[in-house]
Parts: sequence; structure tokens; C-alpha cells
Amino acid sequence: PRTPLTLLGTGAMGTALGRAWLAAGHPLTVWNRTPERTAALTAEGAVAAASAAEAVAANRLVVVCLLDDASVGAALEGVELAGRDLVNLTTGTPADARARSAWAEERGARLLDGGIMAVPPMIGAPGAFVLYSGRPEVFEEHRDTLAVPAGTEYAGADPGLAALLDVALLSGMYGMFAGITHAFALLRGTDVAPKDLAALLVPWLNAMAGSAHGTAERLRSGDHTSAVVSNLAMQVAGSGTLLRTAAEQGVSTELLAPFLDLMRRRLADGHGEEDISGLVELLRSR
Ligand code: NDP
Repeated sequence: PRTPLTLLGTGAMGTALGRAWLAAGHPLTVWNRTPERTAALTAEGAVAAASAAEAVAANRLVVVCLLDDASVGAALEGVELAGRDLVNLTTGTPADARARSAWAEERGARLLDGGIMAVPPMIGAPGAFVLYSGRPEVFEEHRDTLAVPAGTEYAGADPGLAALLDVALLSGMYGMFAGITHAFALLRGTDVAPKDLAALLVPWLNAMAGSAHGTAERLRSGDHTSAVVSNLAMQVAGSGTLLRTAAEQGVSTELLAPFLDLMRRRLADGHGEEDISGLVELLRSR
């Protein structure tokens, strides 16, 4: 028999998670602030509880997937949590996760925090994963159930770690989105089909993403000048080409300029022989 569980929050993500558990045969109790939004899951066999308190009382394992940390506080206000294992998949900051964990422990519950690295259509399919941190016993005990909607990565006992890594991954993603946005803008006034740029950009970005391993190694050793193939001085010299091309195309440099400014500052500080990884030290010194 599959472990029964409760799901608080049947928005886009909660509904995708719930579907995966139902499809795998887990008895599922659901609650949502707007009750109509549980219909998709009750049609597939979930039981809707009349209140969050009733939903929490139904099962020891309670997965929470609400908009933000404030909604978690609002939904669970006054609800009896003693003896529950709360798995909080609501996105928040590391401090939110630590405070919510202490809040749960004060109420006699154990909390595992999670950061979902997927969009709803990816849930239940390969590639989706959830970063977890907090109570290791909760992760061990429920790992088979947690592995149903997405892969699992346990980051450590500090409840803030999953949120920190989640935001680190999202931050890397937004840097990539910024670059992609600028790249497409550069096609202004040309006959280049956007799809032709995409066909070049995707393999290029995939090839460049591996540079993160080099950055990791340089941060470990503390030596940003080892095995450098594109030193900072050369890259700063080349950055003028990027800025002038944007000017020629009539495209704003507002996404590109902040990063190029950091490169110039690091060079001015005397680090021209370094890899771009040295910029991490510059950001940390602020
Ligand atoms: P939705 O906007 O679809 O759903 C939000 C949910 O939060 C609804 O159940 C909503 O209830 C509930 N809610 C909002 N405010 C309150 C409140 N004050 N009290 C009680 N319940 C409240 O968002 P998602 O399902 O997409 O996102 C849920 C979580 O998953 C978020 O933390 C998000 O960051 C995370 N996530 C989402 C991803 C995505 O691509 N969608 C990707 C990765 C993480 P109601 O129906 O009543 O409004």
C-alpha cells in the first residue's frame, strides 16, 4: 500500500504534484483556500477536506505548496500540527525556511523544506527534481513518496539550504535569460530568422555552461589564474566590440553593461590574468 498524504494548495504546481501521487496510487487528501480549485484532483480520486485543519488531521505526511511563506502562515494559523511531518514546497528565502522550520518544531511538527526545480508540465516526467533540506529523518522516511512527482536531492540539515540552492539555480537561469534577450535584440533590422539564432544559441550556451565546473575548481583552490584560456584582460579588450555592435544595431546595453562593468573593475584592481571566475570574489567583497 502507498503512503497516504495531504496536500495543501492546489494551484498550478500543487495540482501537478497531486496528479502524480494519485497516478502512483497514493491516497491523497487535498485542501485549497478557494475550494473549487480542488476539482481537478477530486475528479481523479483525491478527497477534499473542508478546512486546512481537517486536511492536516487526515495524514501524518503533509505537503504544502502555496504561493509564498505568508500564505503558509495564513493557511496553517491555529492548525494542530503536533506529530505531523511537513514538507514545505513553497518557494521562499533561506531565512523564511529557517524561521518556518523553527515555527513548525515549536508546534511539535518536523519540517523538511523543498525547492522545486521544474515547471508544472515537467512534474512526473524525467528531468524534474526537488532540492530538500532540513530534518534528515523526514527525508529518509518519506523519500519513496517524495520521489514520485520528481527526482530528489537532499542538500543537508540546515533548513535554509534548499532555498539557497534553489535561488542560486534561478539566479543562474536569469543571467542566461538576460543574455538570450540581448542576443535576440541584436537581430534588429536584419533578415535573420529568430529560429536560426535559436538553433545556434542553444548548443553554444550548452557548451559554455560547463564553465561552472572550472569556476568551482578555482573557488576551491582560491587560484583564479590556473588553467585560464580566456583571461580577463583579453575579455575586457573584446567587450568594446559587444558594446559597439549593440550601438550599431540600436540596441540598449542595459542588460550587458553591469556585467562588463564588473569585468573592468576587476581588471582595474590588477587581476587581468584571471579567469572570469574572479568576479565572484568581487561580488562577495561588496
Ligand atoms: P498558483 O498561483 O497557481 O497557486 C497558488 C496557491 O497558493 C493557490 O493554492 C492559492 O490559493 C494559494 N494561496 C495564495 N495565497 C494564499 C493565502 N493567503 N492563504 C492560503 N492560500 C493561499 O501558484 P503555483 O501553484 O504555480 O505555485 C505554488 C508554489 O510553487 C510557489 O511557491 C511557487 O514559487 C512554487 N513553484 C512554482 C513553479 C511554477 O512554475 N508554477 C515552479 C517552481 C516552484 P487560491 O487558489 O485560493 O488562490
